[in-house]
Amino acid sequence: MFCYQCEQTMGGKGCTKSGVCGKTPEIANLQDLLIYQLKGISCYAKPLIEEGQIIDKEIVKFVENGLFTTLTNVNFDAQVHVELLKESQRIKEGLRSKAPIGEYADAATYNLSDTKEEMLKDSVKAGIMYDQDLDADIRSLRSTILYGLKGISAYGHQARFINYQSDQVDHFYFLGLEATTNDNLTLEDLIRMTMRTGEISVEVMRILDEANTETYQNPSPHKVNVNIKKGPFIIVSGHDLRDLELLLQQTEGKGINIYTHGEMLPCHGYPSLNKYKHLVGNYGSAWQNQQKEFDNIPGCILMTTNCLMRPRESYKDRIFTTNVVGWDGIKNVKLNEDATKDFGEIINKALQLGGFKEDEEEKKILVGFGHHETLSHAETIVNAVKEGQIKHFFLIGGCDGAKPGRNYYTEFAQQVPKDCVILTLACGKYRFNKLDFGTVAGLPRLLDVGQCNDAYSAVRIASALADAFDTNVNDLPLTIVLSWYEQKAVADLLALLSLGINGMYLGPSLPAFISPNVLQYLVDTFDIKPISTPHDDLKNSLQQHC
Ligand code: SF4
Repeated sequence: MFCYQCEQTMGGKGCTKSGVCGKTPEIANLQDLLIYQLKGISCYAKPLIEEGQIIDKEIVKFVENGLFTTLTNVNFDAQVHVELLKESQRIKEGLRSKAPIGEYADAATYNLSDTKEEMLKDSVKAGIMYDQDLDADIRSLRSTILYGLKGISAYGHQARFINYQSDQVDHFYFLGLEATTNDNLTLEDLIRMTMRTGEISVEVMRILDEANTETYQNPSPHKVNVNIKKGPFIIVSGHDLRDLELLLQQTEGKGINIYTHGEMLPCHGYPSLNKYKHLVGNYGSAWQNQQKEFDNIPGCILMTTNCLMRPRESYKDRIFTTNVVGWDGIKNVKLNEDATKDFGEIINKALQLGGFKEDEEEKKILVGFGHHETLSHAETIVNAVKEGQIKHFFLIGGCDGAKPGRNYYTEFAQQVPKDCVILTLACGKYRFNKLDFGTVAGLPRLLDVGQCNDAYSAVRIASALADAFDTNVNDLPLTIVLSWYEQKAVADLLALLSLGINGMYLGPSLPAFISPNVLQYLVDTFDIKPISTPHDDLKNSLQQHC
Protein backbone atom coordinates (compact mmCIF):
# COMPACT_ATOMS: atom_id res chain seq x y z
CA MET A 1 0.00 0.00 0.00
CA PHE A 2 0.97 3.61 -0.37
CA CYS A 3 -1.19 6.46 0.87
CA TYR A 4 -0.24 10.05 1.61
CA GLN A 5 -3.59 11.77 1.40
CA CYS A 6 -3.86 13.05 4.97
CA GLU A 7 -1.81 15.06 7.41
CA GLN A 8 -1.03 12.20 9.78
CA THR A 9 0.63 10.12 7.05
CA MET A 10 3.53 8.07 8.39
CA GLY A 11 6.72 10.09 8.84
CA GLY A 12 5.17 12.93 6.84
CA LYS A 13 5.86 10.87 3.70
CA GLY A 14 3.36 8.04 3.23
CA CYS A 15 1.74 5.06 4.94
CA THR A 16 3.23 1.90 3.46
CA LYS A 17 2.68 -0.92 5.95
CA SER A 18 -0.68 0.13 7.34
CA GLY A 19 -2.51 3.39 7.77
CA VAL A 20 -1.98 5.53 10.86
CA CYS A 21 -5.76 6.01 10.51
CA GLY A 22 -6.35 2.26 10.89
CA LYS A 23 -6.62 1.51 7.17
CA THR A 24 -5.28 -1.96 6.40
CA PRO A 25 -3.25 -2.65 3.23
CA GLU A 26 -6.30 -4.56 1.94
CA ILE A 27 -8.60 -1.54 2.30
CA ALA A 28 -5.94 0.83 0.95
CA ASN A 29 -5.46 -1.34 -2.15
CA LEU A 30 -9.18 -1.78 -2.75
CA GLN A 31 -9.57 2.00 -2.45
CA ASP A 32 -6.79 2.53 -5.02
CA LEU A 33 -8.61 0.20 -7.39
CA LEU A 34 -11.94 1.90 -6.75
CA ILE A 35 -10.42 5.29 -7.60
CA TYR A 36 -8.87 3.70 -10.71
CA GLN A 37 -12.32 2.49 -11.74
CA LEU A 38 -13.84 5.94 -11.12
CA LYS A 39 -11.14 7.40 -13.35
CA GLY A 40 -11.98 4.81 -16.02
CA ILE A 41 -15.68 5.69 -15.79
CA SER A 42 -14.74 9.36 -16.18
CA CYS A 43 -12.64 8.71 -19.28
CA TYR A 44 -15.79 7.45 -21.02
CA ALA A 45 -18.10 10.05 -19.45
CA LYS A 46 -16.00 13.04 -20.54
CA PRO A 47 -16.49 12.72 -24.34
CA LEU A 48 -20.18 12.03 -23.74
CA ILE A 49 -20.48 15.26 -21.71
CA GLU A 50 -18.61 17.09 -24.46
CA GLU A 51 -21.12 15.75 -26.98
CA GLY A 52 -23.84 17.29 -24.84
CA GLN A 53 -25.13 14.03 -23.40
CA ILE A 54 -26.47 13.95 -19.86
CA ILE A 55 -24.82 11.50 -17.51
CA ASP A 56 -27.41 9.68 -15.44
CA LYS A 57 -27.60 11.15 -11.91
CA GLU A 58 -27.38 7.63 -10.46
CA ILE A 59 -23.90 7.39 -12.04
CA VAL A 60 -22.98 10.82 -10.64
CA LYS A 61 -24.17 9.65 -7.23
CA PHE A 62 -22.10 6.50 -7.51
CA VAL A 63 -18.93 8.42 -8.38
CA GLU A 64 -19.59 10.93 -5.58
CA ASN A 65 -20.16 8.17 -3.04
CA GLY A 66 -17.15 6.23 -4.31
CA LEU A 67 -14.88 9.24 -3.85
CA PHE A 68 -16.36 9.95 -0.40
CA THR A 69 -15.89 6.31 0.66
CA THR A 70 -12.13 6.67 0.16
CA LEU A 71 -11.82 9.91 2.17
CA THR A 72 -9.75 9.51 5.34
CA ASN A 73 -11.58 7.90 8.31
CA VAL A 74 -14.73 7.05 6.37
CA ASN A 75 -14.93 3.39 5.39
CA PHE A 76 -12.91 0.42 6.58
CA ASP A 77 -15.18 -2.41 5.38
CA ALA A 78 -13.63 -4.57 2.64
CA GLN A 79 -16.95 -6.07 1.53
CA VAL A 80 -18.40 -2.60 0.92
CA HIS A 81 -15.45 -1.84 -1.34
CA VAL A 82 -15.82 -5.11 -3.25
CA GLU A 83 -19.51 -4.34 -3.89
CA LEU A 84 -18.66 -0.81 -5.03
CA LEU A 85 -15.98 -2.19 -7.34
CA LYS A 86 -18.43 -4.61 -8.94
CA GLU A 87 -20.92 -1.81 -9.49
CA SER A 88 -18.16 0.37 -10.95
CA GLN A 89 -17.48 -2.25 -13.61
CA ARG A 90 -21.17 -2.41 -14.58
CA ILE A 91 -21.26 1.38 -14.89
CA LYS A 92 -18.02 1.48 -16.83
CA GLU A 93 -19.22 -1.10 -19.33
CA GLY A 94 -22.45 0.84 -19.83
CA LEU A 95 -20.60 4.07 -20.61
CA ARG A 96 -18.01 2.27 -22.71
CA SER A 97 -20.76 1.01 -24.99
CA LYS A 98 -21.94 4.60 -25.58
CA ALA A 99 -18.60 6.42 -25.76
CA PRO A 100 -17.05 7.30 -29.13
CA ILE A 101 -14.39 4.95 -30.52
CA GLY A 102 -10.94 6.22 -29.58
CA GLU A 103 -7.85 5.71 -27.45
CA TYR A 104 -8.59 5.52 -23.76
CA ALA A 105 -6.40 5.35 -20.66
CA ASP A 106 -5.63 2.01 -19.03
CA ALA A 107 -8.05 2.84 -16.22
CA ALA A 108 -10.83 2.85 -18.83
CA THR A 109 -9.89 -0.30 -20.74
CA TYR A 110 -9.15 -2.35 -17.58
CA ASN A 111 -11.79 -4.93 -16.71
CA LEU A 112 -12.36 -5.78 -13.08
CA SER A 113 -11.49 -9.29 -11.92
CA ASP A 114 -14.10 -11.50 -10.30
CA THR A 115 -12.71 -12.21 -6.87
CA LYS A 116 -11.38 -9.98 -4.10
CA GLU A 117 -8.02 -11.79 -4.25
CA GLU A 118 -7.65 -11.04 -7.96
CA MET A 119 -8.80 -7.45 -7.45
CA LEU A 120 -6.10 -7.03 -4.82
CA LYS A 121 -3.48 -8.31 -7.29
CA ASP A 122 -4.75 -5.89 -9.95
CA SER A 123 -4.69 -2.99 -7.51
CA VAL A 124 -0.90 -2.71 -7.85
CA LYS A 125 -1.30 -0.88 -11.15
CA ALA A 126 -3.80 1.51 -9.57
CA GLY A 127 -1.33 2.64 -6.88
CA ILE A 128 -0.17 6.25 -6.64
CA MET A 129 3.50 5.30 -7.08
CA TYR A 130 2.96 2.61 -9.75
CA ASP A 131 4.42 4.66 -12.61
CA GLN A 132 7.92 5.25 -11.23
CA ASP A 133 8.83 7.44 -14.22
CA LEU A 134 5.98 9.89 -13.75
CA ASP A 135 7.16 13.46 -13.26
CA ALA A 136 7.01 14.33 -9.52
CA ASP A 137 5.15 17.60 -10.15
CA ILE A 138 2.57 15.94 -12.40
CA ARG A 139 2.00 13.29 -9.72
CA SER A 140 1.69 16.02 -7.11
CA LEU A 141 -0.90 18.01 -9.08
CA ARG A 142 -2.87 14.90 -10.01
CA SER A 143 -2.99 13.96 -6.32
CA THR A 144 -4.04 17.49 -5.32
CA ILE A 145 -6.91 17.42 -7.82
CA LEU A 146 -7.99 13.96 -6.66
CA TYR A 147 -7.93 14.90 -2.98
CA GLY A 148 -9.78 18.13 -3.73
CA LEU A 149 -12.41 16.03 -5.50
CA LYS A 150 -12.73 13.76 -2.48
CA GLY A 151 -13.46 16.79 -0.31
CA ILE A 152 -15.96 18.11 -2.85
CA SER A 153 -17.71 14.72 -2.92
CA ALA A 154 -18.28 14.85 0.84
CA TYR A 155 -20.01 18.23 0.53
CA GLY A 156 -21.87 17.15 -2.61
CA HIS A 157 -23.16 14.04 -0.86
CA GLN A 158 -24.44 16.06 2.07
CA ALA A 159 -26.30 18.52 -0.20
CA ARG A 160 -27.74 15.78 -2.42
CA PHE A 161 -29.25 14.04 0.61
CA ILE A 162 -31.54 17.07 0.98
CA ASN A 163 -32.15 17.27 -2.77
CA TYR A 164 -29.74 20.05 -3.70
CA GLN A 165 -27.21 19.58 -6.44
CA SER A 166 -25.19 21.51 -8.98
CA ASP A 167 -24.75 20.27 -12.56
CA GLN A 168 -21.44 22.10 -12.65
CA VAL A 169 -20.18 20.03 -9.73
CA ASP A 170 -21.68 16.84 -11.12
CA HIS A 171 -19.88 17.29 -14.45
CA PHE A 172 -16.65 18.19 -12.78
CA TYR A 173 -16.35 14.85 -10.99
CA PHE A 174 -15.78 13.30 -14.42
CA LEU A 175 -13.68 16.10 -15.91
CA GLY A 176 -11.43 16.30 -12.86
CA LEU A 177 -10.95 12.54 -12.59
CA GLU A 178 -10.24 12.23 -16.31
CA ALA A 179 -7.60 14.94 -16.01
CA THR A 180 -5.71 12.82 -13.48
CA THR A 181 -5.28 10.04 -16.10
CA ASN A 182 -4.58 12.23 -19.13
CA ASP A 183 -0.93 12.06 -20.17
CA ASN A 184 -1.41 14.86 -22.70
CA LEU A 185 -1.96 17.47 -20.00
CA THR A 186 1.03 19.68 -19.22
CA LEU A 187 1.96 21.09 -15.84
CA GLU A 188 0.25 24.36 -16.80
CA ASP A 189 -2.91 22.44 -17.78
CA LEU A 190 -2.88 20.67 -14.43
CA ILE A 191 -2.35 23.90 -12.53
CA ARG A 192 -5.41 25.30 -14.31
CA MET A 193 -7.32 22.14 -13.42
CA THR A 194 -6.23 22.48 -9.79
CA MET A 195 -7.60 26.03 -9.68
CA ARG A 196 -10.77 24.80 -11.39
CA THR A 197 -11.08 22.21 -8.60
CA GLY A 198 -10.97 25.16 -6.19
CA GLU A 199 -13.72 26.96 -8.10
CA ILE A 200 -15.87 23.84 -8.01
CA SER A 201 -15.20 23.56 -4.31
CA VAL A 202 -16.62 27.08 -3.88
CA GLU A 203 -19.64 26.02 -5.94
CA VAL A 204 -20.32 22.86 -3.92
CA MET A 205 -20.01 24.80 -0.65
CA ARG A 206 -22.42 27.40 -2.06
CA ILE A 207 -24.95 24.68 -2.85
CA LEU A 208 -24.53 23.06 0.54
CA ASP A 209 -24.98 26.42 2.25
CA GLU A 210 -28.17 26.95 0.25
CA ALA A 211 -29.34 23.42 1.10
CA ASN A 212 -28.71 23.84 4.82
CA THR A 213 -30.02 27.38 5.22
CA GLU A 214 -33.13 26.88 3.07
CA THR A 215 -33.98 23.58 4.77
CA TYR A 216 -33.06 24.46 8.35
CA GLN A 217 -33.07 28.31 8.22
CA ASN A 218 -30.08 30.56 8.76
CA PRO A 219 -28.07 29.80 11.91
CA SER A 220 -28.47 32.32 14.72
CA PRO A 221 -26.62 32.63 18.06
CA HIS A 222 -27.42 29.75 20.34
CA LYS A 223 -25.87 28.69 23.63
CA VAL A 224 -24.95 25.01 23.76
CA ASN A 225 -24.41 23.03 26.93
CA VAL A 226 -21.16 21.06 26.67
CA ASN A 227 -21.73 18.96 29.79
CA ILE A 228 -23.89 15.87 30.20
CA LYS A 229 -27.48 15.42 31.32
CA LYS A 230 -29.08 12.51 33.12
CA GLY A 231 -30.85 9.93 30.96
CA PRO A 232 -30.54 7.71 27.87
CA PHE A 233 -28.76 9.31 24.95
CA ILE A 234 -27.46 9.12 21.42
CA ILE A 235 -24.42 11.06 20.26
CA VAL A 236 -24.48 12.15 16.62
CA SER A 237 -21.10 12.66 15.01
CA GLY A 238 -19.99 13.66 11.51
CA HIS A 239 -21.53 16.49 9.50
CA ASP A 240 -24.93 15.49 8.18
CA LEU A 241 -27.83 17.76 9.25
CA ARG A 242 -30.51 15.58 7.67
CA ASP A 243 -29.43 12.53 9.67
CA LEU A 244 -29.62 14.58 12.84
CA GLU A 245 -33.09 15.80 11.89
CA LEU A 246 -34.36 12.28 11.15
CA LEU A 247 -33.00 11.03 14.47
CA LEU A 248 -34.52 13.99 16.36
CA GLN A 249 -37.90 13.24 14.79
CA GLN A 250 -37.73 9.55 15.63
CA THR A 251 -36.60 10.10 19.25
CA GLU A 252 -39.05 12.87 20.09
CA GLY A 253 -41.05 12.02 23.22
CA LYS A 254 -39.04 8.83 23.88
CA GLY A 255 -36.97 10.21 26.76
CA ILE A 256 -33.71 10.10 24.82
CA ASN A 257 -31.29 13.01 24.88
CA ILE A 258 -29.44 13.81 21.66
CA TYR A 259 -25.94 15.26 21.76
CA THR A 260 -23.93 16.55 18.86
CA HIS A 261 -20.29 15.55 18.59
CA GLY A 262 -17.32 17.01 16.71
CA GLU A 263 -18.32 18.83 13.54
CA MET A 264 -22.04 18.51 14.36
CA LEU A 265 -21.71 21.27 16.97
CA PRO A 266 -22.81 24.09 14.59
CA CYS A 267 -26.14 22.25 14.04
CA HIS A 268 -27.32 23.83 17.30
CA GLY A 269 -27.44 27.19 15.52
CA TYR A 270 -30.09 26.09 12.99
CA PRO A 271 -33.62 27.04 14.18
CA SER A 272 -35.25 23.97 12.58
CA LEU A 273 -32.94 21.71 14.53
CA ASN A 274 -32.59 23.51 17.86
CA LYS A 275 -36.39 23.66 18.20
CA TYR A 276 -36.17 20.03 19.41
CA LYS A 277 -35.92 20.24 23.19
CA HIS A 278 -34.17 16.87 23.44
CA LEU A 279 -31.20 18.19 21.42
CA VAL A 280 -29.57 18.84 24.76
CA GLY A 281 -25.96 19.65 24.04
CA ASN A 282 -22.59 18.81 22.62
CA TYR A 283 -20.58 15.83 23.88
CA GLY A 284 -16.81 15.50 23.99
CA SER A 285 -14.42 17.25 21.68
CA ALA A 286 -12.83 16.74 18.28
CA TRP A 287 -12.73 13.42 16.41
CA GLN A 288 -9.29 12.24 17.47
CA ASN A 289 -10.41 11.89 21.11
CA GLN A 290 -13.35 9.60 20.32
CA GLN A 291 -11.82 6.31 21.48
CA LYS A 292 -11.26 7.77 24.93
CA GLU A 293 -14.52 9.74 25.05
CA PHE A 294 -16.74 6.88 23.81
CA ASP A 295 -15.07 4.28 26.03
CA ASN A 296 -17.75 2.39 27.98
CA ILE A 297 -20.36 5.13 27.65
CA PRO A 298 -23.91 4.04 28.62
CA GLY A 299 -25.41 5.26 25.34
CA CYS A 300 -25.12 5.04 21.56
CA ILE A 301 -23.18 6.85 18.86
CA LEU A 302 -24.21 7.49 15.27
CA MET A 303 -21.42 8.31 12.79
CA THR A 304 -22.95 10.14 9.83
CA THR A 305 -19.71 11.00 7.98
CA ASN A 306 -15.99 11.08 8.78
CA CYS A 307 -14.09 10.89 11.10
CA LEU A 308 -14.46 7.29 12.29
CA MET A 309 -11.63 5.67 14.25
CA ARG A 310 -11.22 1.99 15.09
CA PRO A 311 -14.03 1.33 17.61
CA ARG A 312 -12.85 -0.14 20.91
CA GLU A 313 -14.46 -3.34 22.15
CA SER A 314 -15.99 -1.30 25.00
CA TYR A 315 -18.37 0.49 22.62
CA LYS A 316 -18.32 -1.63 19.46
CA ASP A 317 -21.85 -2.86 20.23
CA ARG A 318 -23.26 0.67 20.56
CA ILE A 319 -21.72 2.57 17.68
CA PHE A 320 -23.67 2.70 14.41
CA THR A 321 -22.77 4.16 11.02
CA THR A 322 -24.87 5.51 8.17
CA ASN A 323 -24.29 6.85 4.63
CA VAL A 324 -20.93 5.75 3.22
CA VAL A 325 -19.29 5.36 6.64
CA GLY A 326 -18.40 1.81 7.60
CA TRP A 327 -16.36 -0.52 9.73
CA ASP A 328 -16.38 -4.28 9.39
CA GLY A 329 -18.89 -5.69 11.89
CA ILE A 330 -20.49 -2.34 12.76
CA LYS A 331 -24.16 -1.88 11.89
CA ASN A 332 -24.81 0.56 9.00
CA VAL A 333 -28.26 2.21 8.90
CA LYS A 334 -29.38 2.22 5.26
CA LEU A 335 -31.39 4.78 3.35
CA ASN A 336 -34.91 3.57 2.51
CA GLU A 337 -36.41 4.01 -0.93
CA ASP A 338 -38.59 6.84 0.38
CA ALA A 339 -35.43 8.71 1.50
CA THR A 340 -36.06 8.01 5.20
CA LYS A 341 -34.02 5.93 7.62
CA ASP A 342 -35.10 3.62 10.38
CA PHE A 343 -33.11 4.38 13.52
CA GLY A 344 -35.21 1.94 15.59
CA GLU A 345 -32.32 -0.32 16.54
CA ILE A 346 -30.07 2.47 17.81
CA ILE A 347 -33.02 4.01 19.70
CA ASN A 348 -33.85 0.71 21.44
CA LYS A 349 -30.20 0.13 22.28
CA ALA A 350 -29.90 3.63 23.79
CA LEU A 351 -32.98 2.98 25.96
CA GLN A 352 -31.57 -0.40 27.09
CA LEU A 353 -28.23 1.14 28.04
CA GLY A 354 -29.99 3.56 30.36
CA GLY A 355 -27.75 6.58 29.87
CA PHE A 356 -25.96 8.91 32.25
CA LYS A 357 -26.96 8.66 35.90
CA GLU A 358 -26.45 12.30 36.91
CA ASP A 359 -26.64 15.80 35.46
CA GLU A 360 -23.37 17.72 35.33
CA GLU A 361 -23.38 21.42 36.03
CA GLU A 362 -24.17 23.24 32.77
CA LYS A 363 -21.38 24.95 30.83
CA LYS A 364 -22.44 26.77 27.71
CA ILE A 365 -20.64 27.93 24.60
CA LEU A 366 -21.99 30.11 21.80
CA VAL A 367 -22.45 28.98 18.17
CA GLY A 368 -24.41 30.27 15.17
CA PHE A 369 -22.35 32.98 13.49
CA GLY A 370 -22.74 32.00 9.84
CA HIS A 371 -22.60 34.68 7.15
CA HIS A 372 -26.22 35.76 7.65
CA GLU A 373 -25.88 36.38 11.39
CA THR A 374 -22.37 37.87 11.28
CA LEU A 375 -23.27 40.22 8.45
CA SER A 376 -26.37 41.37 10.32
CA HIS A 377 -23.76 43.11 12.54
CA ALA A 378 -21.84 44.51 9.56
CA GLU A 379 -22.52 48.14 10.44
CA THR A 380 -21.33 47.66 14.04
CA ILE A 381 -18.23 45.81 12.80
CA VAL A 382 -17.36 48.42 10.17
CA ASN A 383 -17.81 51.30 12.64
CA ALA A 384 -15.76 49.48 15.29
CA VAL A 385 -12.92 49.04 12.79
CA LYS A 386 -13.10 52.69 11.72
CA GLU A 387 -13.07 53.84 15.34
CA GLY A 388 -10.11 51.59 16.13
CA GLN A 389 -12.04 49.36 18.57
CA ILE A 390 -11.43 46.31 16.34
CA LYS A 391 -7.90 46.15 14.93
CA HIS A 392 -7.77 42.84 13.13
CA PHE A 393 -9.69 39.66 12.27
CA PHE A 394 -8.21 36.18 12.49
CA LEU A 395 -9.89 33.24 10.84
CA ILE A 396 -8.51 30.21 12.66
CA GLY A 397 -10.10 27.23 11.04
CA GLY A 398 -9.75 23.74 9.70
CA CYS A 399 -9.43 20.24 11.04
CA ASP A 400 -8.16 19.00 14.33
CA GLY A 401 -5.87 16.00 14.53
CA ALA A 402 -3.93 13.73 16.82
CA LYS A 403 -0.37 14.59 15.89
CA PRO A 404 1.63 16.95 18.12
CA GLY A 405 2.01 20.53 16.92
CA ARG A 406 -1.67 21.44 17.04
CA ASN A 407 -1.28 23.29 20.35
CA TYR A 408 -0.10 26.06 18.05
CA TYR A 409 -3.76 26.85 17.33
CA THR A 410 -4.70 27.06 21.03
CA GLU A 411 -1.74 29.27 21.79
CA PHE A 412 -2.38 31.41 18.72
CA ALA A 413 -6.00 32.02 19.74
CA GLN A 414 -4.96 32.81 23.33
CA GLN A 415 -2.35 35.30 22.16
CA VAL A 416 -4.66 37.18 19.78
CA PRO A 417 -4.85 40.76 21.20
CA LYS A 418 -8.08 41.74 22.96
CA ASP A 419 -9.01 44.25 20.25
CA CYS A 420 -9.17 41.55 17.58
CA VAL A 421 -11.98 39.22 16.52
CA ILE A 422 -11.47 35.48 16.01
CA LEU A 423 -13.64 33.71 13.46
CA THR A 424 -13.51 29.93 13.55
CA LEU A 425 -14.87 26.96 11.64
CA ALA A 426 -14.48 23.16 11.45
CA CYS A 427 -13.29 20.95 14.30
CA GLY A 428 -9.95 22.70 14.83
CA LYS A 429 -12.02 25.06 17.01
CA TYR A 430 -12.09 22.48 19.82
CA ARG A 431 -8.54 23.60 20.54
CA PHE A 432 -9.96 26.81 22.03
CA ASN A 433 -13.77 27.08 21.80
CA LYS A 434 -14.38 26.40 25.48
CA LEU A 435 -12.15 29.30 26.55
CA ASP A 436 -13.68 32.65 27.43
CA PHE A 437 -12.59 35.30 24.95
CA GLY A 438 -14.96 38.02 26.17
CA THR A 439 -16.35 40.71 23.88
CA VAL A 440 -15.15 43.56 21.70
CA ALA A 441 -17.32 46.44 20.45
CA GLY A 442 -20.33 44.66 21.98
CA LEU A 443 -19.71 41.47 19.95
CA PRO A 444 -18.32 38.13 21.13
CA ARG A 445 -14.61 38.03 20.29
CA LEU A 446 -14.94 34.40 19.20
CA LEU A 447 -17.46 33.85 16.40
CA ASP A 448 -18.19 30.24 15.45
CA VAL A 449 -18.94 30.35 11.72
CA GLY A 450 -19.76 26.64 11.42
CA GLN A 451 -18.51 23.42 9.85
CA CYS A 452 -15.61 23.00 7.41
CA ASN A 453 -17.90 23.68 4.43
CA ASP A 454 -18.77 27.00 6.07
CA ALA A 455 -15.46 28.25 4.72
CA TYR A 456 -18.00 29.53 2.19
CA SER A 457 -19.63 31.57 4.98
CA ALA A 458 -16.25 32.96 5.94
CA VAL A 459 -15.63 33.99 2.33
CA ARG A 460 -19.06 35.69 2.19
CA ILE A 461 -18.26 37.58 5.40
CA ALA A 462 -14.81 38.63 4.17
CA SER A 463 -16.13 39.73 0.74
CA ALA A 464 -18.93 41.78 2.31
CA LEU A 465 -16.48 43.49 4.70
CA ALA A 466 -14.13 44.17 1.78
CA ASP A 467 -17.03 45.83 -0.08
CA ALA A 468 -17.92 47.90 2.98
CA PHE A 469 -14.33 49.17 3.19
CA ASP A 470 -14.17 49.61 -0.58
CA THR A 471 -11.16 47.33 -0.83
CA ASN A 472 -10.41 43.69 -1.65
CA VAL A 473 -10.20 40.72 0.71
CA ASN A 474 -6.38 40.67 0.62
CA ASP A 475 -6.26 44.26 1.88
CA LEU A 476 -8.58 43.67 4.81
CA PRO A 477 -7.06 43.50 8.29
CA LEU A 478 -7.65 39.73 8.13
CA THR A 479 -5.31 36.78 8.56
CA ILE A 480 -6.32 33.23 7.73
CA VAL A 481 -4.65 30.50 9.76
CA LEU A 482 -5.58 27.05 8.49
CA SER A 483 -5.11 23.65 10.03
CA TRP A 484 -5.56 20.71 7.72
CA TYR A 485 -6.00 17.00 8.27
CA GLU A 486 -8.07 15.33 5.55
CA GLN A 487 -9.25 16.00 2.01
CA LYS A 488 -12.13 18.38 2.80
CA ALA A 489 -9.46 20.77 4.02
CA VAL A 490 -7.72 20.31 0.66
CA ALA A 491 -10.97 21.32 -1.08
CA ASP A 492 -11.29 24.31 1.28
CA LEU A 493 -7.72 25.42 0.64
CA LEU A 494 -8.15 25.16 -3.14
CA ALA A 495 -11.40 27.12 -2.85
CA LEU A 496 -9.66 29.96 -1.04
CA LEU A 497 -6.78 29.94 -3.55
CA SER A 498 -9.17 29.98 -6.50
CA LEU A 499 -10.69 33.14 -5.01
CA GLY A 500 -7.24 34.73 -5.06
CA ILE A 501 -6.79 34.85 -1.28
CA ASN A 502 -3.14 35.45 -0.44
CA GLY A 503 -0.91 35.11 2.58
CA MET A 504 -2.61 32.22 4.39
CA TYR A 505 -0.77 30.33 7.11
CA LEU A 506 -0.97 26.55 6.71
CA GLY A 507 -0.12 23.86 9.25
CA PRO A 508 0.60 21.92 11.30
CA SER A 509 2.72 20.39 8.50
CA LEU A 510 2.62 20.73 4.74
CA PRO A 511 0.91 18.01 2.65
CA ALA A 512 3.25 15.16 1.68
CA PHE A 513 1.71 15.11 -1.81
CA ILE A 514 2.85 18.66 -2.57
CA SER A 515 6.18 18.45 -4.43
CA PRO A 516 8.87 21.09 -3.79
CA ASN A 517 8.17 22.77 -7.15
CA VAL A 518 4.41 22.86 -6.60
CA LEU A 519 4.99 24.28 -3.13
CA GLN A 520 7.25 26.95 -4.61
CA TYR A 521 4.51 27.80 -7.11
CA LEU A 522 2.00 28.19 -4.25
CA VAL A 523 4.41 30.34 -2.26
CA ASP A 524 5.26 32.53 -5.26
CA THR A 525 1.68 32.90 -6.47
CA PHE A 526 -0.30 32.93 -3.23
CA ASP A 527 2.27 33.73 -0.58
CA ILE A 528 1.29 30.62 1.38
CA LYS A 529 3.27 30.39 4.61
CA PRO A 530 3.88 27.32 6.74
CA ILE A 531 3.04 28.11 10.36
CA SER A 532 6.03 28.95 12.59
CA THR A 533 5.35 30.07 16.17
CA PRO A 534 2.13 31.76 17.33
CA HIS A 535 4.18 34.73 18.52
CA ASP A 536 6.00 35.30 15.22
CA ASP A 537 3.00 34.60 12.98
CA LEU A 538 0.82 36.96 15.03
CA LYS A 539 3.47 39.65 14.96
CA ASN A 540 3.88 39.35 11.19
CA SER A 541 0.12 39.38 10.57
CA LEU A 542 -0.42 42.51 12.66
CA GLN A 543 2.60 44.30 11.17
CA GLN A 544 1.58 43.49 7.62
CA HIS A 545 -1.78 45.16 8.02
CA CYS A 546 -0.90 48.17 10.13
S1 SF4 B 1 -5.58 8.22 5.09
FE1 SF4 B 1 -3.80 9.14 6.10
S2 SF4 B 1 -3.29 7.81 7.85
FE2 SF4 B 1 -4.73 6.70 6.50
S3 SF4 B 1 -3.41 5.48 5.19
FE3 SF4 B 1 -3.79 7.40 4.09
S4 SF4 B 1 -2.14 8.81 4.67
FE4 SF4 B 1 -2.11 7.09 6.11
